[in-house]
Amino acid sequence: MSKDCLFCKIAAGEIPAKIVREDDFALAFEDVNPQAPLHVLVIPRRHIATLNELTDDDEALVGHLVSMARDVAHDRGLDGSGYRTVFNCNADGGQTVFHIHLHLIGGRSLAWPPG
Ligand code: 5GP
Ligand code: ZN
Repeated sequence: MSKDCLFCKIAAGEIPAKIVREDDFALAFEDVNPQAPLHVLVIPRRHIATLNELTDDDEALVGHLVSMARDVAHDRGLDGSGYRTVFNCNADGGQTVFHIHLHLIGGRSLAWPPG
């Protein structure tokens, strides 16, 4: 856990969040400022600041985040209509919280390309 990291505090239960799925390695919770009817963030419990800090040893963990996003989308009945998954990285990517998180966004038609 990284001191002063918002998402580490959510993972530790120190800051409340609407958790929709969790296990020993990851959790999924509702984004506080949803951009669509479904907007969930999937995070590893372990602190990793950005995608740049991932190592080859993290490949299974990142796959696990994607699988958890798939399961949430399935639970919400969005697997057929579709959804988007996004990791933002650093300033140009629009990252504002420096603990990696996979955005799962759906429930409406999403424009492409993003702004
Ligand atoms: P980023 O811009 O880093 O890719 O995404 C950060 C996301 O975290 C944003 O969508 C923002 O709404 C969300 N967020 C920021 N603070 C909180 C919080 O305290 N609780 C929850 N549930 N989401 C948060
Ligand atoms: Zn953290």
